[in-house]
Amino acid sequence: MKQQIIIPLEEFPEEGIELSGELDGSIFGIDCEDVRRIGPVEYRLEAQLYDTELVVRGEVSAPFRLRCMRCLGEIDYTVEIEEVSYAIDVKGKMSADVTDEVREDILLELPGYPKCELIGAECEINDKFGDFRLDKDPQPGVNCATPSGNSVWDALDQYPGK
Ligand SMILES: [Zn+2]
Repeated sequence: MKQQIIIPLEEFPEEGIELSGELDGSIFGIDCEDVRRIGPVEYRLEAQLYDTELVVRGEVSAPFRLRCMRCLGEIDYTVEIEEVSYAIDVKGKMSADVTDEVREDILLELPGYPKCELIGAECEINDKFGDFRLDKDPQPGVNCATPSGNSVWDALDQYPGK
């Protein structure tokens, strides 16, 4: 599967270029217990060239499996952005790559504190852990790892009651 969105600039048609397709989800470089990609990035974009500026607009989406921060259940959540917009200086370039722009936009849309409510579901309290973890928020954001390299959940796994 494609890993880049490349827009050719040679003989760019006046009416613009339409691009659509799928990108390999591995472009995100994330795959941990709390955030997993479960499908390709889908995109539908339109590119217009204005002198040396390429303007790209369109919609992108990508499905993820997230860990609910409250009950530790898994929820499938698709990031959908209906209107992305990029302006890229392409002076002297033969092609433009908007992969990074798309990746960053999608990552920014990932919920920082995923909960089952996100998809209209209710948390199932897992008795195994006890409900002391309810609404525990050890760190904001979907952090795969702490700066020390340990998952935020590693510390919790050492809880003696487990
Ligand atoms: Zn939940």
